[in-house]
Amino acid sequence: MSKRIIILGAGESGVGAALLAKAKGYDVFVSDGGHIGTGFADELLAAGIGYEEGGHDMERLLTADEVVKSPGIPEKATAVKAIRERGIPLISEVEFAYRYMNGSKIVAITGSNGKSTTTSLIYHICRHAGLNCALVGNIGVSIARQVAADPKPLYVAEISSFQLDDIVSFRADVAILLNITEDHLDRYNYQFQQYIDAKFKIIANKREDDCLIYCADDEVTATNLHKFSNLTNLLPFTMKKEVRQGAYIKDEEMLIKVKEQEVRMSIHDFALKGKHNQYNTMAAGIAATVLDIRKDKIREAVQNFESLEHRMEPVATIRGVEYINDSKATNINSTWYALESMTKPTVLILGGVDKGNDYSIIEDLVTEKVKAIICMGIDNQKLHEAFEGKVALITDAGSAKEAVMKAYKMAEKGDAVLLSPACASFDLFKNYEDRGHQFKMAVKEL
Ligand code: ADP
Repeated sequence: MSKRIIILGAGESGVGAALLAKAKGYDVFVSDGGHIGTGFADELLAAGIGYEEGGHDMERLLTADEVVKSPGIPEKATAVKAIRERGIPLISEVEFAYRYMNGSKIVAITGSNGKSTTTSLIYHICRHAGLNCALVGNIGVSIARQVAADPKPLYVAEISSFQLDDIVSFRADVAILLNITEDHLDRYNYQFQQYIDAKFKIIANKREDDCLIYCADDEVTATNLHKFSNLTNLLPFTMKKEVRQGAYIKDEEMLIKVKEQEVRMSIHDFALKGKHNQYNTMAAGIAATVLDIRKDKIREAVQNFESLEHRMEPVATIRGVEYINDSKATNINSTWYALESMTKPTVLILGGVDKGNDYSIIEDLVTEKVKAIICMGIDNQKLHEAFEGKVALITDAGSAKEAVMKAYKMAEKGDAVLLSPACASFDLFKNYEDRGHQFKMAVKEL
C-alpha cells in the first residue's frame, strides 16, 4: 500500500507539495482550515487529489504516515499540535521537495530583508550567463511544484524562516544569510532568539564544501555565528573592512574574492540603488562567483538588472516630483534603508498595521530628509506620537488615493514622494502588492 501523506494548507506551497507527492506515487490528501482559492482547488481536482477546506477532519489527519506543512501555518495551530502529539513526522514543503532534488545545485537565500531582491538578482545573473536554472520558493513558484513539473540542475531559492522551521536534511550548496532583524516574532513566542535560530537553520546540514555567504556588518548574524565551531567556506560581505575571501566595498568600488577569482566593479554601475542594495549586490556577486560565472557576465548582469515591483520602484516624475513605490517595506528596518537612499527632500507615506515598530530607529533620517509625513492607516496614533513636532507637517489619509493627492499638494519641484510604510497593509489593502498598485494608479491619475 502506498504511503499516506497529508498536506496542511493549499496555497502555492501546499499545492506544489501535493502535486509532487502525487507524481511520486503517494496516497495524497490536502487539508486546509480556511478557504482554498479557486485556482488551487481546480488544480487539485485536475490532478485527482482529494481535499477538504474550512476545517480539518482530525480523524483522517491522524491516519497520515507523514504530514507536510505549509509555511503559513503556525506551530500553535490545533492540527499541528495533534500531529505532534501523535508523533507523526511533520516536515516543511522545502524538506519534502529536497528529497527529489537529486543532486541539483541549490542556492538558498534567507534573511529578514532583501530576500526577493537578492534571489531575483542571482537568478538574473545565472540566466544572463546561460545557466539552466529555476527561480523558486517564497518568491513565486514553490520548490515542490518546480521539482514536480520541470526539474533543473540549479535552483535559486528564496527561503523564509517559516520554511526552515521544519526541515530535517535540507541543505544548500550556497547558503546566503542576508541579515537578521526582528520580524514575525508572533510566530516565535516573542523570542527573538527563536527567530534567529530558525534563520540559522539554513546551515543546519552544511557540509564542508558548501559555503555560507553572510553580512559581517550585521551584528546579530556575527554574534550568533560564533556559536558554530569549525564552520568552513565562510564568505562574508561588508562595507567596514577588507576581507580576504568574500566581498567588500571600499572607495566606492566592490571587490569580490572567491578562491583565486576576483571581480571588481564600481558601485555606481549597480542597477540597484541604495546602501541596502549594495549589500544585496555583494551577496549576489559572491554567489555568482562561487557558481563560476565569468566576471564580465556578472558585471553586465548587475548593471542591467531591472528592479522588482514594489521595492524602491520608480513610478513617475510629475511636475519635477519623483514618486517611489516601496510598498514591500513592511517593517521599520526596510524603511530605514529606503530613507537612507533618498537624496531629495521627501514626503513620506507611512502606516498600516504596526507589528511592534520602534520608530526611534528612523528618527534621525526623518529629521534629516523628510519634510512631511502622511499617515496612511486606520489607526495612526502611534505614528503621531512618534513624529509630532519632528517634521514640519504630519497628516492622515484613509486611502492610497487620498495619500497621493495630499502628497501632490505638499511636494515641490525637486522633492520625492516615497511610499515606504514600515507596516503591514491589511487594514486598508488586501496585501502589499494591492497597496503598491493602488499607489501607482493614484500617481498615474494625477
Ligand atoms: P524580502 O523578500 O526579504 O521581504 P525584498 O527584497 O522584497 O525583501 O525587500 C523588502 C524591503 O526591504 C524593501 O522595501 C527594500 O527596500 C528593503 N530591503 C531590501 N534589501 C534590504 C537589506 N539588505 N537590508 C534592509 N532592507 C532591505
